[in-house]
Order: sequence, then structure tokens, then C-alpha cells
Amino acid sequence: MARGTYATINLDALVYNFLQVKHLSPRSKHVAVIKADAYGNGAIPVAKALSPYTNMFAVAFLEEAIALREAGITLPILVLQGPYAYQELENTKTLNFHWVLHTETQMAWFSEYLSHSDIQGHQWVKVDSGMHRLGLPMNEFDDLMRRYPKVMSNKCVIMTHLAAADEDDQTQTNIQINSFLSKVSASDFALSIANSAGAIALPKARQNFNRIGISTYGSAPFCSDRQITLRPVMTLSASIIAIREIPKGDTVGYGMTWQATKPTTIATVAIGYADGYPRHAKNGTPAVLHNRRISLVGRVSMDMITYDISNVENVKIGDMVELWGNQLPINEIASYVGTIGYELMTRVSKRVPRKYIHAKEKT
Ligand SMILES: *Cc1c(COP(=O)(O)O)cnc(C)c1O
Repeated sequence: MARGTYATINLDALVYNFLQVKHLSPRSKHVAVIKADAYGNGAIPVAKALSPYTNMFAVAFLEEAIALREAGITLPILVLQGPYAYQELENTKTLNFHWVLHTETQMAWFSEYLSHSDIQGHQWVKVDSGMHRLGLPMNEFDDLMRRYPKVMSNKCVIMTHLAAADEDDQTQTNIQINSFLSKVSASDFALSIANSAGAIALPKARQNFNRIGISTYGSAPFCSDRQITLRPVMTLSASIIAIREIPKGDTVGYGMTWQATKPTTIATVAIGYADGYPRHAKNGTPAVLHNRRISLVGRVSMDMITYDISNVENVKIGDMVELWGNQLPINEIASYVGTIGYELMTRVSKRVPRKYIHAKEKT
């Protein structure tokens, strides 16, 4: 029998979440962001499930886009980091790729490409409104329009990315949005500002295109609650492969970092940091067994984790433990571990099989 370690991906919940966010901006088009293998959920099944509902997809770089085409995905695909070399643009027409241009070099390449191509509206020009990671300086915008007239035709989309849309304090975000809009909204360009947090919480960020990632996967980008309810998409679970009783005073795991203060039942579960469960998860990080919360004890090993299951009755080898998902929000685990849902999801490694649930499967 195979190891009972799975990430179950609920594609119905995925579609539900995407539509929830989409319906907040009925006048916008939507870009489903499926970079990094759809945040670890599997880019191809996710793209198939979302294809009827999204206007286009976005990935980080060319190879991710090509993999989708090879799998038969036909909607336009936006490449968020733009071309790494001029040659990559040769795929623009044949593969219907759209490009974010965030450096002058990329602007020059695209200008060159347009000089011998009849393609229109495949370029998104990214300006830096304060995130200071990617994008052309906003104060050069007018100059760029003068120097790259074909690239900056009214067929292009002007985009920017928000640095702090997920923070409760929206002062900085409002400064970013206002300075972006004051620069570009007088012109005829289509605009794109919002990621999930922007699309959910910031009406001003909802423009012609919203770029929706994490919320589709069921993890709210905020620390505090918002009106919108998202359903968990990924449930990570693994089976118990050993159970033992230890006396008060004994320790568990590498480095003996946890010591029993009373006689304790320990379950060893077949998942570890090689599967993407974070090694720095501390003693007390929860999991769910038979609908009850249990606590991690000792260090996470490469292939195994140990839990104190003294509070749960009738546990057998083979019983399943949920690490996060339906019964345990991924963001709760993220806060125990000092990270965010995005990182936990994307890090679930290749050796964890993904199982897909899709009640509304069309034939
Ligand atoms: C990843 C990404 C998004 C999606 O952000 P979420 O917070 O996951 O919704 C949007 N825009 C850009 C440029 C991105 O890189």
C-alpha cells in the first residue's frame, strides 16, 4: 500500500472562491494567477477548472506559460516577469502570450518585435508606484510614451502592484493608488492594480483587470476578517505510522526538544520537511485527528512528525491526520510558523500526490 500522504485539492471550492472575488468587480476582467504551479495546487488542473470563468491566466515566466499550452490550455497567458530575452517574444503570436514589460530593455525588445508583427494588445507596461521591486519609474511615464509610441499605444494595459494591500492600515496603499491613477487615468489605457487583497478590500483598486491569486486558493490575504468567505482548497493530510506510550520525563525527536510532563501517547505521522511541512514548526503547532486538535511535539524530521495524541481515543495505525485544510485554516498554521499561507502552499513538495475533487466535472 502507498504512503497515505496527500494534498487533496477541492476544485469546486477553488471555482467558488474565484467567483466570490470576481463578483465584487462586475465591470472588471479577471486574470487568474496560477504561477508556481498554481501556488502548489497544480497549474494544469487549476487552469482547466478556472478556464470557463476567467478572462486570462498569469504565470511568472515563459516556461510556466509553455507548460500550460502543452497541456491544452487555450486562454491568453500573461507572463508577469516579462521576457528574459528578445527571442522569447517570438512565442507571442503563436502561443498567445501577453507580456509584462517592466524594464526599458523589455520595452525596446517589444518595440522591435512590433516593428515586424501585426499583433495588438499583448503588452502590459508595469510602473513602479512604490513597491520598488519591478516596474518603470512613474516619473518617466510621459517620456516613455514619447519614446515607445507603438508599445504605449492605447491597446496596452498599464499595471502596478500594491505593496501593502493586505495591511489593515491602508494609508500607504491609498498613496500608491492615488499617485498611480493621477499619472495614468487621464489617458485611454486599460489599467490593472488589484491583487486579491486589493480586489477584496479596496474598491479604488478594482480597474479593468484584477489579478487574483491567493484568494482563489482559499487563503485570505488579510490578518483580520473581511466580509468575504473563502473555502479551503488544499487539505494536507498524512497517516499515522506508529503509536507509543512514553513515561513522564522522556523526550521526543531530534535534539530532545520536547519532554513529557506526564505519561503521554505519541503518534508518528508520515510527513516531514521533505514534503514541505515547515521544519521550524514549534511544539504546540496544531493538527486535527478524529475531529480533535492535537499538538506537535519534538522537531519535524525529514519524513515524519510526532504528535501528542493523549487527548484522542481509539487511535489506530493508518488513521489520518490533517495538517491544514478543511478543519484547520492554513493561515492558522502559517501564524504558528511565522509565515503566510502562500509559502506553506507553494512549498508542498512534488513527492506529495495531489488528489483532485471536482463534483461539477464536465464531461
Ligand atoms: C502573484 C501576483 C499577483 C497575485 O497576488 P495574490 O496576492 O496572490 O492575489 C498579482 N499580481 C502580480 C504582479 C503578482 O506577481
